Formats: sequence, structure tokens, C-alpha cells
Amino acid sequence: MIALATVLAAVLMGLGNTVGYHRLLTHRSFKARPPLRWVLTLLGALHGGSPVLWVGLHRLHHARSDTDSDPHSPIRGFWWAHCGWLIGTERALPALLFALSGFGQQLTILLHDVRRLLGRNPPTWRELCPDLMGEPLMRFLDAPGVMPVLFVVQLGAAWGLAGWTGIGALWLVHLWLTNTSWAVNSVAHTARFGRRTFETREDSVDVPWLAVLTHGEGYHNGHHRYPRSARHALHGGADLSWAVIRLLSATGLAQDVWLPKKFR
Ligand SMILES: [Zn+2]
Ligand SMILES: [Zn+2]
Repeated sequence: MIALATVLAAVLMGLGNTVGYHRLLTHRSFKARPPLRWVLTLLGALHGGSPVLWVGLHRLHHARSDTDSDPHSPIRGFWWAHCGWLIGTERALPALLFALSGFGQQLTILLHDVRRLLGRNPPTWRELCPDLMGEPLMRFLDAPGVMPVLFVVQLGAAWGLAGWTGIGALWLVHLWLTNTSWAVNSVAHTARFGRRTFETREDSVDVPWLAVLTHGEGYHNGHHRYPRSARHALHGGADLSWAVIRLLSATGLAQDVWLPKKFR
């Protein structure tokens, strides 16, 4: 039972990140009205932090991919791209330890919010997301302290459901989701790990095995070629997020699903 709940949580929270934060909020690959838009956003927030900050950083990544001003490019080293950028290190050992910490990202979110409350982190990322800042839910989720409280609620729920086993299961979910999504920045931007399907300006590659683990996000070269595409596996392959978007569209819950002309 607990194993099933753990897998279900990992899949749903993962879809919150890929279908919600990435394809819906960042790239506007399709439209979804509330309450579906809220549900996808909240599922993403359980793991990825503020949607406005996530979207802002990701839009910056697309605008400056694999340059000095890309927040997480492997041009500063594999471990910097994976998670070192979150704690300011290019060194493998501290980054590896952070990657294995599971809840480490939640700690960085807390520290980030404390710095904001002290006036040291002006919310410049909001300038990259004027579309989201018009929504009360997005502004609320981006307020300092909200994400740490959401994480405490998760801890409380996990404890209430299964005590230390529940906390352990939640830790596994966060360990899995952080490392698989970080691998899109590290593995899928490193030539030797994948293939170049399209000619693009950065070093992105398609990594089919990573797409299995990340609901389709491993087809990252195709994504950089057509960032707005709701489908990332443009030539076929594992893309659970695309399957979900197609299902939502077929049931009328998603509208205006965008695909590049030659792949429609
Ligand atoms: Zn990328
Ligand atoms: Zn993207």
C-alpha cells in the first residue's frame, strides 16, 4: 500500500512539474482553465518551489542556454548543471552529497525565502513572468514562506499516514524527482549522453532513457528546437506528459494544444 502511494505521488508530482510548470506555465503549450490549472500548479509546487521562480529561471535558461548567463549549464561542469548551481559549487563531492540529500532542495527554498524576508533577494524573476503575476494563486505561491509551509504540510501528512515510513517514502519521492529533473539540465545538455536530432544553438541532446524517467522531458534537443511544442518526443518515444495532455484535450479539459506544423 505504501509502495503504491509512493509511486503514485512520484508520478503525479512529476506530472505537476512537466505538464504543469514546464509545458503549461512556462511554454504555454496548451491552455487549461481552473481548477485544472490550479491542480497542475499545486502538484508542481509540492516539489519544485514557487511556480513564478521556476518559470522565471527556466525562461532564462531558454534565452541564454549554455552561455555564461545560463543558470545551470554544463559549460561550468556536469555537477554545477546538475545541482551545484543551487548551492554555488562546481565541485563533485558537495554537489553529489546535496543530490543524495533528497530534501536538500527544500532547504535551499527555505534559505532563499529567509533571504527574501531580509531584503537580500529582490524578486527579479517576477519580471520574466508578467503573465503569471496576474494570477492571485501564482502571487500567493511566490510569497516568502509559502513553499516551506507547503513542505511542512507534506511532512505532516506523510507522518500522519505512516509515521517514519511515510517520511521515508516522501524522502524517496523528493530524491527521485529532484535528481531526474536536474538530469535534464546536466545529462540532456552533455553531448556524450545523447544524440542531436535537430541543429540548435545550444548543446541540448535527446536522451531516450531519461525521457522514460522524466515523463518525456529527456527529448530535450527536440524541446529546445520547438520550445512551445506540447509533445517533446517529436519522432516518437516515451512521453507520458504528451499522453496526459492528449487525454486532457480529448476530454475537453485542455485547449489550444500547440504542435510544430510539420509534426501535426
Ligand atoms: Zn535545456
Ligand atoms: Zn523548456
